[in-house]
Amino acid sequence: MKITNRTYIATILVLLCTTVALFYALAFSSSVAPPTQDETAESNQPLYQWRLVTTWPKEFPGLGMAPENFANLVNRMSNGRIEIQVFGAGEIVGALEVFDTVSSGAAEMGHGAAYYWKGKSQAAQFFTSVPFGMTAQEYNGWLHYGGGLELWRDIYQRFNLVPFAGGNTGVQMGGWYKREINQIEDLQGLKIRMPGLGGEVINRAGGTTVNIPGGELYTSLKTGVIDATEWVGPYNDLAFGFYEVADYYYYPGFHEPGASLEFIINQDVWNELPSDLQAIIEGAARAINQDMLDEYTARNNAALEELVNEHGVQLRRMPPEVFQHLKTISFELYDEISAQDEEFANVWQSYRRFLEGVENYHSISEEAYYEERRGR
Ligand code: CA
Repeated sequence: MKITNRTYIATILVLLCTTVALFYALAFSSSVAPPTQDETAESNQPLYQWRLVTTWPKEFPGLGMAPENFANLVNRMSNGRIEIQVFGAGEIVGALEVFDTVSSGAAEMGHGAAYYWKGKSQAAQFFTSVPFGMTAQEYNGWLHYGGGLELWRDIYQRFNLVPFAGGNTGVQMGGWYKREINQIEDLQGLKIRMPGLGGEVINRAGGTTVNIPGGELYTSLKTGVIDATEWVGPYNDLAFGFYEVADYYYYPGFHEPGASLEFIINQDVWNELPSDLQAIIEGAARAINQDMLDEYTARNNAALEELVNEHGVQLRRMPPEVFQHLKTISFELYDEISAQDEEFANVWQSYRRFLEGVENYHSISEEAYYEERRGR
């Protein structure tokens, strides 16, 4: 290429300007003094010391590790400006007192599941999982890109709380049964622990449900207070030792096809945070939300193999007619509650619309792919 005088001069000018700009950049950066010892020390002092109360036994695998991992991550991301101390169920308050404790400001933050608070808002149950509802992947799509989070925030605002998704178990197991379920009639008189709308569905199918915190389930099942219990899936259920007190392990969990956990923060505490720390909390919650699903995905099958091969657990699939019966009851229940509860109706409308759309697409993506991989 022929270089004319004009381009030569232009090139020289550009080089000159770059050199001058570089010089000023270096001069400016060197004029900023490095942090003194005092400033460094100060930035490592926590500006915010929070107590995080949970509905799980302290450091319980999976569920109980989410708040621990969150606290560690926030501490590192904020360079120690936020220090969060995690308390297991019963250490400061009972498992089912978490919502009120954070709402009142007696603790800054909590970790639990929204369906435990159906007495506060029926609609809260959509933010854990509902029978025949969305999977983890679908729910996270609705929450973060389908308007779900905005609906959730509106509801929790009444209670002075800011909610975030705080982990997901994936599709849960149907649960532990002391006797077999071979037909719809076998649900009659069944005493089972099943929280949320799934529990109401079982009640309508002739059973009796109770809401018992995880830590009390083993004893309740052993002593016959209940005939059956759902909990989570193989990884968590193995840790609780349910195989010692019930023979049959049913699948899949119609009642919790993708149970989402929640972080809740007191609204006043949240409002006090500068926006960079709010962003750290949001980012950490989002990371931990995905992290829990990753861990369950990695660990469930090994736990299932141990349950079946080493502990002789009888794995059973719930008969299809039982499932279809429960599905009919579920959708009747959503319509019935919607007729009485405007907030519930509002969330159900958004949830159902998203579910129908994602179900349509997943029939030709996830579902079709699983079929092909298995070999039709
Ligand atoms: Ca469960």
